[in-house]
Amino acid sequence: MGDCSSRKTRYLDADRFAERLSPLISQLGVHYLSVITDERMACDTADSPTYEIYGWWPSPDKPPILIFSTNGLGMEPKGPATDRAIANLAVSGITGYLMDVDSHTRGPRSCPNYYNPDRKLDVLTSRQSFCKPCAAKLRAAHPKEIAFFDRGAVDGTKPGDAGTWSAYWYNGYIYSSEIARGLDVLELAPSGLISANEIAAAKLVHLDYFNAQDQPKATWPATFVVARAYVDQLERSNGLSVERLKAVRQELARAEKIQGQARRDALTALASALGQDASTSTDQWKVQKLAGVVTELANTAVTGAQ
Ligand SMILES: [Zn+2]
Repeated sequence: MGDCSSRKTRYLDADRFAERLSPLISQLGVHYLSVITDERMACDTADSPTYEIYGWWPSPDKPPILIFSTNGLGMEPKGPATDRAIANLAVSGITGYLMDVDSHTRGPRSCPNYYNPDRKLDVLTSRQSFCKPCAAKLRAAHPKEIAFFDRGAVDGTKPGDAGTWSAYWYNGYIYSSEIARGLDVLELAPSGLISANEIAAAKLVHLDYFNAQDQPKATWPATFVVARAYVDQLERSNGLSVERLKAVRQELARAEKIQGQARRDALTALASALGQDASTSTDQWKVQKLAGVVTELANTAVTGAQ
C-alpha cells in the first residue's frame, strides 16, 4: 500500500504495488497477473499523479500486472454486471499492455480502450467492442504463427518424457531446449509470412547476455533495413497501396545511395509524405512507425551516421 502524504486519503500506489507483485508471475507460472482490490488507487505518484483510477496496466517493458480497483464504483458484490465489468477491465488491461497505448478520452464509449474519466458504471458494465483504430492496432500487435518445430516422440511405441520445453530468440537464432535430446538451434528463412528484411532487422538487436525472466525491451536502430521491414509489413497488411509501396521503396533505395544534405532532404520529404499516408491508412500505427524511422534516418543523414 503506497501512501500519498500530500492527501489525507490513502491510495494504493499502482506502480509500487505492481512492482511488489511482479515476482509472483514466475512463481505462479502465469502470463498475466490480474488483481482486484477495493482500495482507492492512484498511479504515477512520483511525477504526475492521477487519482481515482479504477483500471491500471504497466508499459510493455514492465511485468504484465493488471489492477482493478472497485472502490466507489457502486458495483454489486456479484452478478452478471459485475462479471462483465471484470471481463471488460481484463480486456482493457491486456490490450493496453499489448498495444502500449494510453486510453482515448474521446471516441466511442463502447470501446474497451475508452478512458471513462467520470467512472460511469454503465460504461464499465456495458457490452463493449473495439473501435476501428483500436481494432487495427490490436491486429498489428497480435502474434501470428509463422512456423513450428517439434521432434516428436523419442520412441513411438512407449510413453516417455521428451519435447521442447522452452524456445528463445537470441541474437538471430532460436534456441530450443529439449527435455531428453539436448538443444536445437534454428534460424528463420524468408517466406510469405516473414521477409528477408524483417529477419535482417531482427538480427540488429544484439544482447551480450539474455535472461528471459528480465524481459528486456528490444529496440531497433534507425536503419534502412528496419524501414524496409516496415514497408514489407505494410505490404502484407495492405496498409499502403501498391503504387505507394513501389514509390516508397524506390525513394528509400535512392536516399541510401546519396549522402549529406541531399539524403536528409529526400528522407524528410519521404517522412512527410508518409505522415499523409498515415492519415488514410488502415494500418496507421505501422505507417507512423515507418515515418518515425525515416525521420530518424533524416536527422542522422548530415553527420553521416546511420
Ligand atoms: Zn478505441
